[in-house]
Amino acid sequence: MEALVVGAGIVGLNVALALSEAGWAVTLVDCGNRRGLAVAMVNPVRGRRGSVVPEAGAALPLAAQVYGRFLPLHRGLWRPLEAEVEPKWRRKLERSAVAHAWREGGVWLPEAFWVEARALRARMAAGLPRIRGRAVAWGPTRVRLAGGRVLRADRVVWAAGAEGAALAGVGGRFSAGSQLLVAERFPTARARGVYAAGPAIGGSYLPHSERYAPHVTRYGEIVWMLERARELLGFTPKPVGMWAGVRWRTDGAYLFEQNGGWVIGGFGSTAYLLAPLYARRLAERLGG
Ligand SMILES: Cc1cc2nc3c(=O)[nH]c(=O)nc-3n(C[C@H](O)[C@H](O)[C@H](O)COP(=O)(O)OP(=O)(O)OC[C@H]3O[C@@H](n4cnc5c(N)ncnc54)[C@H](O)[C@@H]3O)c2cc1C
Repeated sequence: MEALVVGAGIVGLNVALALSEAGWAVTLVDCGNRRGLAVAMVNPVRGRRGSVVPEAGAALPLAAQVYGRFLPLHRGLWRPLEAEVEPKWRRKLERSAVAHAWREGGVWLPEAFWVEARALRARMAAGLPRIRGRAVAWGPTRVRLAGGRVLRADRVVWAAGAEGAALAGVGGRFSAGSQLLVAERFPTARARGVYAAGPAIGGSYLPHSERYAPHVTRYGEIVWMLERARELLGFTPKPVGMWAGVRWRTDGAYLFEQNGGWVIGGFGSTAYLLAPLYARRLAERLGG
């Protein structure tokens, strides 16, 4: 059985891996040559209030197992906590399956991790057949590319992220943000306001239009991130580069039967955490 997976970001790559393991012959279709997110956090506890991703108990060990086959994981996340939010974090974490330890002034998440996301995607993509082209229409068994070429397979999976959200046809919301690459390196991740992990500081959250449009980092955004980084680290890191992107969130549902085919995505900032789990669920639905 042959599958076309449109989108070679972390979601499409996880789908390709899960389908290949289930015996499918997979071809990736992707239009881009953008470099993508440089550092990815795989963090099951989100935001200021410490919301725990509902499926973290299954998703986090699976993500570690999948990505750990391709490169080393950098384990552990330190989250300093303001006194007023600590009780909320305690309540949520005590109820959850997420390993954690309270330390003076914050919480340590030993199983959260960060990865060099560009190297990870490159290694996951190695050896997979890939067609470069922009899909402009798709159905259960065919994809039409800009220029008119039509590709066919037994199944099509749409995993084209924020940029492809309009053609996914499942709605959702967008927020734009940036990641700064810095001269310093943070082997152990820390987060509050922004995260510092490896060579990166991330990420800002800016309102975005209702439809996807590419984001370009703004000056004020860099200033905001460096201020949050100084609060977190005690010094201002030195920016040497940046990456700008757009998150797409479909709020809790990530797998859709659509157009007679399948859409997977809308994970927002939990793409690296949840994609392996949902890719396997999709592979189970599609069968071998
Ligand atoms: C500042 C910032 C920081 C972030 N930090 C994290 C983090 O630490 N951890 C985390 O898990 N997530 C993080 N995210 C979110 C994460 O970047 C995204 O959720 C994730 O990249 C989504 O993966 P994806 O595969 O769905 O989409 P994408 O990475 O966007 O990949 C989609 C692919 O589809 C291709 N494509 C699009 N349209 C078409 C088409 N019509 N035809 C063919 N190909 C097409 C594109 O070229 C692209 O390669 C962050 C986002 C931002 C903005």
